[in-house]
Amino acid sequence: MKASNMYLHTLREVPAEAEISSHVLLLRSGMIRKLVSGVYGFLPLGHRSLRKIENIVRQEMDAAGAQEILMSAVQPAELWQESGRWYAYGPELWRLKDRNERDFCLGPTHEEVFTDTVRQNVSSYRQLPFNLYQIQTKYRDEARPRFGLIRSREFIMKDAYSFDRDEAGLAKSYQDMYDAYKKVFDRCGLTYRAVEADTGAIGGSNSHEFCALSEVGESEIVYCDSCDMAATAERAEFKDAVMLQAEELPLQEVETPGTKTIDAVAEYLGISKDQTIKALLFTVYRGEDAKPDYVAVFIRGDRQLNKTKLINALNVPDFAVEFADESAMHEATGCVGGFTGPTGLHDCMIIVDTELVAAKNLCAGACREGYHLINVNYGRDYKADLIVDLKLLQEGDPCPVCGEPVRVARGIEVGQVFKLGTKYSESMHAYYKDENMQEHPIVMGCYGIGVTRTLAAVVEQHHDEDGIIWPMAVAPYHVMLVQVNMKDETQTALAGRIYDELTKAGVEVCLDDRDERPGVKFKDADLLGFPIRITVGKKAGDNLVEFKLRREKEYIEMQTGEAIAQTLERVRTEERGY
Ligand code: ATP
Ligand code: MG
Repeated sequence: MKASNMYLHTLREVPAEAEISSHVLLLRSGMIRKLVSGVYGFLPLGHRSLRKIENIVRQEMDAAGAQEILMSAVQPAELWQESGRWYAYGPELWRLKDRNERDFCLGPTHEEVFTDTVRQNVSSYRQLPFNLYQIQTKYRDEARPRFGLIRSREFIMKDAYSFDRDEAGLAKSYQDMYDAYKKVFDRCGLTYRAVEADTGAIGGSNSHEFCALSEVGESEIVYCDSCDMAATAERAEFKDAVMLQAEELPLQEVETPGTKTIDAVAEYLGISKDQTIKALLFTVYRGEDAKPDYVAVFIRGDRQLNKTKLINALNVPDFAVEFADESAMHEATGCVGGFTGPTGLHDCMIIVDTELVAAKNLCAGACREGYHLINVNYGRDYKADLIVDLKLLQEGDPCPVCGEPVRVARGIEVGQVFKLGTKYSESMHAYYKDENMQEHPIVMGCYGIGVTRTLAAVVEQHHDEDGIIWPMAVAPYHVMLVQVNMKDETQTALAGRIYDELTKAGVEVCLDDRDERPGVKFKDADLLGFPIRITVGKKAGDNLVEFKLRREKEYIEMQTGEAIAQTLERVRTEERGY
């Protein structure tokens, strides 16, 4: 491709709304274009990289035995009502009506549609197992679209669904997808970790997230250097320490004026935060028309609440849990903002973290302005409606498997695999008959890759202050061929020859033949980030060119033949990406 004919518009300025490097660089390099918040279009170069990622995904899915299909983005509400997710998916589901007031949504994911498709055709064990996938545009009306392609409202996902007779079959399908995902992300040049994950709104029993490691990632990962434990912070279990049996001291109310936070009360009373109880107050909606309930959650003062664990314990969708309005909750339950403790509450569900049960003589709010209770003990002084682990595992906390201190890292979730089991096949009645004509629900798995998010994650991991540094396998072009002076015929002839030879050999070359100053061309070459740059300049008459890798600082002057040979070799070895 010749740059002079290309629809290429790079920006010098950093777009105001872009907070992270991948977003800035994809906009500045003219690869993507924002239409409206969370909705992006792909321009020629961005589109080429996108297609390459899609093809890597497609090749690895096909190699794993999955079959590609393409379903509609428009889905009828009835299917979502059948699975129970018309309500449970909440405000992220992009709903619409047709002219006859019939409800539809734009698919955020396709469990219902695939289950519906399969139940129409499959009735016998002989038709199982199989795996169907698509690469298709998804819609989620995200509360906070941000970071460009990383959290958008319209995005491209590869979603695959496996259909098996039993758990053993599912285990194999799951492993095949897990292995295929590793190949996909290796080929895309990502540094990532596969970690155990929560199953969230999709449901099911077992799941792994693939997280591209990055400081700007929204997923928090906890892992252990001493053993194999690696999980999302949402999922990670917290193993409580064994408590020494201390004597229970008499409960006592003490005046603690103005101490509305754990820090303040600990300092005022001269105790450490692990001797305090922290209260967190929520409103919970348990159904579409139900009145909200109040829930008071208690954890040790030095711990952080893991909201996912709370949501799972309550068995409600995540949008159904909100922080309570304290004055309304005070009227209803007797809680007192900043001074709420587990004693003295009424008409409210009390959930207590497991760790508090054995801990002795703690300090908690007295449900009275300016007062706390000391020597508070579970059982004697208060009881719970539910006792459950609610803690977020943090850097240095003991590993739930081996007890060594855990580490924390951040990542961008680029893919997730789930064992769904029979959640959808039961609710939507997708059954098969076995050899003895006995009916069983089909055992399902589902497997997503954020294709557009992967593109952004690649840029996030591969860039410097001048621009993108594409891995060969997903670069829009392999080579940027820069002709320094467009008026020099020797240069034109040599650049043309290199272009033809490389192109014939299957190398993707962009020839920068624009009538621009060399400085502009080099700046754009760095910004666009194709892996190899060949510069045809003053020494063209001696058949000499400059060969430079985008990831290295210096160029090497070499004979044209040598530059072509090195290019062919690099493209050949790096194209596979692993
Ligand atoms: P997140 O926790 O980031 O909201 P999710 O767990 O809800 O994502 P899944 O339902 O597992 O997402 O979707 C499969 C994949 O689709 C994700 O692993 C991610 O790569 C991608 N994805 C999900 N939501 C978005 C989005 N809003 N924008 C871009 N990609 C997304
Ligand atoms: Mg996910």
